[in-house]
Amino acid sequence: QAVEADLVDDPAIAVLAINRDGFRQVTQSLGMNAGDAVLRMVADRLRATAPAGACLGRVEGDLFAIGLPGGDANAAIQHAEALYAAFRAPIAVADAALVLGLSIGIAVAPDHGSDADTLLVAAGAAVHEAHESGRNTAAFYVPGRGSVSRERLAMESQLRLALQAGELYLAFQPQVALHDGRLIGLEALVRWRHPTRGIVAPGAFIGIAEDTGLIVPLGEFVLREACLAAVRLARAGMPAVPMSVNVSALQFRRDGFMPTVQAALQASGLEPTKLELELTESVLMRGTDDMLARMHIVREAGVRIAIDDFGTGFSSLAYLSRMGLDRLKIDQAFVRDMRQSARAEGIVKAIIAMAKHLELNVIAEGVEEAEDAAHLRVLGCDDAQGYYYGRPMEEAALLDWARSSGRMRE
Ligand code: C2E
Ligand code: MG
Ligand code: MG
Repeated sequence: QAVEADLVDDPAIAVLAINRDGFRQVTQSLGMNAGDAVLRMVADRLRATAPAGACLGRVEGDLFAIGLPGGDANAAIQHAEALYAAFRAPIAVADAALVLGLSIGIAVAPDHGSDADTLLVAAGAAVHEAHESGRNTAAFYVPGRGSVSRERLAMESQLRLALQAGELYLAFQPQVALHDGRLIGLEALVRWRHPTRGIVAPGAFIGIAEDTGLIVPLGEFVLREACLAAVRLARAGMPAVPMSVNVSALQFRRDGFMPTVQAALQASGLEPTKLELELTESVLMRGTDDMLARMHIVREAGVRIAIDDFGTGFSSLAYLSRMGLDRLKIDQAFVRDMRQSARAEGIVKAIIAMAKHLELNVIAEGVEEAEDAAHLRVLGCDDAQGYYYGRPMEEAALLDWARSSGRMRE
């Protein structure tokens, strides 16, 4: 509020929006109280560093803004440097000494806008730019590029509302056995029915959800809905096959994750063995013993684990064998390139051979043509998923698909 009031009156002003890198990790590892304490200490430091006549405010979350009156670009850069110096000293909280990086975004009036709102959005967009280029970086708002980030900022707030407004829903893609085409599983894929953009694919918003922490409520929604749908589909006559749910690394690392899974199972009455979690290799790469322990807890509860997009990361073989996995999903890029490229085919073969040795089930993603399926069958792959068999579909369409392709329960 204060930022806004003061900015409007001053045409020559620099706005620095400040986002402390790694704040979310603080609240995740040390708790909300520690997070609040950190915010307060950061505010103190910003206040102590602010020149006379500057106005200071917290915009939202861990985003602060400073308005420098009469400021120009040079003054803004000087102040950014003063801030980096001020934040070099660690912050003491909950028995920990934290050194937090800063990402600073700078917008200058009148070049980047002449009202508080526009300047704050521009500076916020530049913060994103800075954040993306690494810790302790400052970025100026660049109108052309900034508009992309501005779009992203808009998406952020819209996504927040989408969850409450019921704009998110799930589509389900069939997974079949290669030797007889039998239905062996379903994968739940989230979709966003955006009020003006139409149906938005997860590639356009999962990253935003992860950056903003929205992935947590979004992930809970997906788990709950996927379990409920699995039970409904089986009641409607589909074979009772496992339902796969994509889980992002951020979700999986949280302490509240397993209770969320248990709650989704309980609320739906779905058997744990009929739920599969798809983790990506990046989860394992940060593979600490902690992660292994988590995976074992999941498996002990009877829930299955698959590694998604396999072949794109760097999982160590030793690790894979200790992990207690159920299956590997061969990344669709290899399946797509397999027929033209001997190298891609080699990778597919190697993954299949490895899966056999580790006694894991192996499924190929992105199977678009009959030839892909035939080829994979020859290579000894167990299962397949892709447009050739069926696209991701909503429940009613999926039931139609199962009926018309003779895949309903006898
Ligand atoms: P993924 O888990 O590897 O999902 C497979 C993606 O490939 C899906 O895209 C699917 O529609 C697409 N696909 C399936 N068959 C074919 C095919 O034959 N050809 C081609 N070209 N593509 C095919 P989608 O639905 O856009 O999802 C993209 C990614 O978003 C997913 O990749 C997954 O990583 C992520 N995602 C989707 N839903 C969720 C979710 O609920 N939570 C989280 N954390 N991530 C999700
Ligand atoms: Mg997946
Ligand atoms: Mg995949």
